[in-house]
Parts: sequence; C-alpha cells; structure tokens
Amino acid sequence: MAVNLLDFDLEGLAAWCESQGEKRFRAVQLFRWIHQKGEADFAAMSDLAKSLRDKLVASAEVRALPVLSEQRSADGTVKWLFDVGGGNAVETVFIPEEDRGTLCVSSQAGCAVGCRFCSTGHQGFSRNLATGEIVAQLWHAEHRLRKELGLAAGERAIDNVVMMGMGEPLQNYAALVPALRTMLDDHGYGLSRRRVTVSTSGVVPMIDRLAEDCPVALAVSLHAPDDALRDSLVPLNRKYPLAGLLAACARYLPRAPRDFITFEYCMLDGVNDSDEQAHALVRLVSGEGPARVRVPCKFNLIPFNPFPASGLTRSPRERVAAFAAILQGAGIVTTVRRTRGDDIDAACGQLAGEVLDRTQAARRLAERRRVVPIVVASARAVGRGGHAGSLV
Ligand code: SAH
Ligand code: SF4
Repeated sequence: MAVNLLDFDLEGLAAWCESQGEKRFRAVQLFRWIHQKGEADFAAMSDLAKSLRDKLVASAEVRALPVLSEQRSADGTVKWLFDVGGGNAVETVFIPEEDRGTLCVSSQAGCAVGCRFCSTGHQGFSRNLATGEIVAQLWHAEHRLRKELGLAAGERAIDNVVMMGMGEPLQNYAALVPALRTMLDDHGYGLSRRRVTVSTSGVVPMIDRLAEDCPVALAVSLHAPDDALRDSLVPLNRKYPLAGLLAACARYLPRAPRDFITFEYCMLDGVNDSDEQAHALVRLVSGEGPARVRVPCKFNLIPFNPFPASGLTRSPRERVAAFAAILQGAGIVTTVRRTRGDDIDAACGQLAGEVLDRTQAARRLAERRRVVPIVVASARAVGRGGHAGSLV
C-alpha cells in the first residue's frame, strides 16, 4: 500500500525522502505543499523535479479521510463525521469565535477510559487513530474553510486546536506526538504551542513524557475534588489518583507554554456541584488538600451535555454560577463554557456519530447472526446538547 504522507512530521518526511534517495530538503517543499497549500496531487507540485513527482505517484499518497457528513449550525459551528474504516467514524468540530477559529480533533475511535458522563466512553474503545488520521482532520477542515472563506495565501482559518474530540489522546501517545509537531511546525500549520491543547483524563506517566517530547497547553479533566467521587466518574483515577495527578500537573508547568493548567469540570446535578465540593476543589489545587501540591490553574466549568444512558443530569444554571463564584472568590480564573452548535448535536463529550452507531451495530449484528441486516437501529441514543465554545 502507498505510504500516507500525512503520517509524517517534517523529520519523519525527511527520513522517508532520504530512504527514497532524495535530499532531505525536498521534504520541506513537499511538507509545505501538503500542509500549507492543501495539495494532494503530486502532479500539481510544480517546483518538485519530475523524477521525484513520478516517484511520489508510484509509492505515496496524501490520504484524506472520507467525509460521511458535514453539518452546520446556525451559529457557524461545523461538524464533520469522517469514515476511518471498519465501521468506525470519528467527529471533528470547528467552532468560530470572534477572535479565533478552534478545531476540536479526535484521537481515537471510541475511548477505553469509560467516564460515566461521556457518551464516547459509553461506546467503548474501537481503535487508536494513526498520526495521518489525526492530521487529516485538520488538513481537511483548514483547507475546506480557507477556500470557503476566500482567505488570502498565508491566512489561516484555524489558529487553535484542542484535542478534545473522541478519545483519550495520551492513550494514543505514539501517534499523537508527530501530529502535534505537524500542527506546530512553521512549514506545517504554524500554530503556537499555547494554541494547541491536549486534554487528558489524567494519564500521569504520559503527562511527564509530553513535557519532554512536545510541551503544548495542557487541560486536565478533573470533575471531582476527591478520589472516592473521581474513582466513580473517571475510572482511570483508580490507577492514577488525584495526588499523583496534581503532582504531574505541577511538574508539567515549568515546561509548558502557559503558566497554568486548565482544569475541566463537567457540572453534574447533585453529583459534583455543591458549595462544599467547590471549597474542597479550592483546597485541592492550593495544596491544602490530600494532594499537598499547589497547581496554578484556571477552571473551565462544562455544563453536562446529557444523554439518556448516563442517568445523569446537568446542573442548573444558578448552581453553576454559585460554584463558579466560590472558585473565583478564591482567586481562581473560572469560565463557564458556552454551548455551541446545539442544533447539529455537536456536543462536548457526545461525539460518537449516529452513523458510527448504525454501522457498528450492523457489523456486530451481522457477525452474531451471520446474516446481512436489512434495517438497523441506532445502538445508542445520542443526546442533545451543544458543543462547548471557548474551549480553553
Ligand atoms: N479524553 C480527553 C479529551 C476528550 S473529552 C479528556 O477526557 O479530557 C473532552 C472534554 O469533554 C473533557 O473535559 C470531558 O470531560 C468533557 N466531557 C465528556 N463528556 C461530556 C458531557 N457529556 N458533557 C460535557 N462535557 C463532557
Ligand atoms: Fe474518554 Fe475523555 Fe470521554 Fe473520559 S471524557 S471517556 S477520557 S473521551
């Protein structure tokens, strides 16, 4: 099979060029054609030698992900559903804001962490995405939007990427890092480190590795002020409890492009939203709780986007405001995420795609019965809600 050039960061592409008997600097030209110009056709890469173009046509490709659907919200949010084969699909969401354009990117089909409040988690884990499949989401969105918006050469549609789509990025580390490097590379998308955010449910050893390999902005999904509650909401907490997680956050900061960690906190009615829990959170991050380490941070409160199978409900607006006020009163910058794109079901934590459900269900059913199903219902109800704006 042809090599997918989206799988390579610039260093990887240079090594591949060398292995093909080409000079390393050819990789820069090629990389710029692919990522800056959005070109997938080697024949159109006019400044490459004909012999190289012929070699590329014979052995390589820029493999875009097939688009299953593109939905647009009245507020400008765009959601793509990409086919990643084998009955799996992943979602990518573009959120336009006045001063920037944010792309929310998926790292896995499904997720193995299985958080109680997350519909991706409820769906289970299918597989890791390859680097090229992570990058293809940005490649497609950037160049499609650029064309649509009629942007001049050098102008960008997307200047902020958050790894907050489907999946736990730090459980797909090997594929993630080259994808991040391509996003940051001046010959690639040229994004600032401060504007590429990895969101994690707390894979402690990989937080340390990220600090070494590719320090970008870090968001940590906290959701609870104590281990007992966090164990039940984010099962990974049993392996990496809060004290170790906060210590990893503190170790990350000296290498980070920002001088704070963003803590995400999904507001669940009657579960994690009391005044007492807000005070416990303040103690936790200021080193007075069981973790004994102070972590400079901001809080991003996410009103829960409900889905039936969760058995959970969203905290009332006044509760979220009161909770935020306690954190703010303690001097912690706290934002409440705005809901975006609710007319297209692009909700935070609900990214799973009904097509995915149908195709998965179809396959499973067929495997079980050894017949081809004719009518297949959605395996899992997808709840309503909006994608979060102001992600970090
Ligand atoms: N796996 C990573 C990144 C993807 S989830 C993580 O957990 O951080 C992105 C964010 O959406 C996380 O903060 C997650 O907690 C939040 N989220 C998940 N399900 C949600 C839901 N139903 N409502 C609101 N936020 C949700
Ligand atoms: Fe996975 Fe993040 Fe969803 Fe938890 S919240 S199940 S880690 S995608």
